[in-house]
Amino acid sequence: MMRIVLAGPQLDGLEISEPAASVRLLVRWPGEPFEIPTWNGNEFLLADGRRPALRTFTPVSLNDHGLTLDIVRHGGGAAADWAETVAPGEPCAISGPGRGEAIEPSAGRYVLLGDETAIPAIEQLLGVIAHDVRIDVHIEIVDDCAQLDLATHPGAAVTWHVTTPGDAPGATLRRAAEATDIDERTRVWAAGEAAAMQAIRKHLFDDRKIPRDHTTVRGYWKVQR
Ligand SMILES: Cc1cc2nc3c(=O)[nH]c(=O)nc-3n(C[C@H](O)[C@H](O)[C@H](O)COP(=O)(O)OP(=O)(O)OC[C@H]3O[C@@H](n4cnc5c(N)ncnc54)[C@H](O)[C@@H]3O)c2cc1C
Repeated sequence: MMRIVLAGPQLDGLEISEPAASVRLLVRWPGEPFEIPTWNGNEFLLADGRRPALRTFTPVSLNDHGLTLDIVRHGGGAAADWAETVAPGEPCAISGPGRGEAIEPSAGRYVLLGDETAIPAIEQLLGVIAHDVRIDVHIEIVDDCAQLDLATHPGAAVTWHVTTPGDAPGATLRRAAEATDIDERTRVWAAGEAAAMQAIRKHLFDDRKIPRDHTTVRGYWKVQR
C-alpha cells in the first residue's frame, strides 16, 4: 500500500462528508506525460483516441495538508504504477466525490467485509458507527505483513484472512459472509473483487433472503479473465 498526498489550490471547494466515499483519480499512463482528456459527449478520450487512466479511490482524509489516498500495489495497472513511480510535484487530476455509505442508526450490528482496497473505507466506517453497535470485520490480505492497526471501535472484532495460493480473490470474504449470522438488525457492507462481490450478493439475496436495503456490496476492482 502506498500513501499519496495530493495538494494544490485546485482542491479548494472539494468537500467529502460521507464515509467510504470515492474520488476519481486521473494519472498518466506508465512512461507517458500527463494529459487532460477531452469529453466527446460520451466519454473522456486522450488526443490520440485512447482512454485515459482514470481510476477510483477512497479519500482517506482531506484537510489543510491535502487529499490523502492509500493505493494498493498489486504489480500492475496505471494507478499502481503511478503510485510507485510518481515524483513530488507531478500533476494528476481529481474529480468527485462519489457517494459514500449512509449509516443506519437502528442497526444493532454491522458486518464489514473487504480486501486491501477496502481498508480505507472500512477504517472510516469504524470511525462513524456508534460505539454501542457490534461490528464484525473481515479483511482479506495477500500477505500476513499487510495487517494494520485499524481505527479502534469498542464493539469491533477484526479477523484478518490471508489468502491461500489458488484461492480466487475474495474467496475468504465469501466464506466469512456464508458463515456469519445475520438477523434483521444486522447491516452488511462489503467491497472487493467484482466476481467475489457478485457471489456474496447472490448468497445474501438469493440464499438468505436478506433485504437489499440492509446491504451494500460493491465491486472495487475486476480480475481480467
Ligand atoms: C468506490 C471505490 C473505492 C476504491 N478505493 C480504493 C482504495 O482506497 N485503494 C485502492 O488501492 N483501491 C481502491 N479501489 C480499487 C481500485 O480502483 C482498483 O484496484 C483499480 O483497478 C486500480 O487501478 P490500476 O490502474 O492500478 O489497475 P488496473 O489498470 O485497473 O488493472 C490492471 C490489472 O491489475 C488487476 N488489479 C487491479 N486492482 C487490483 C488489486 N487491488 N489487486 C490485485 N489485482 C488488481 C486487474 O485485474 C488488472 O489485471 C476502489 C474502487 C472503488 C470502485
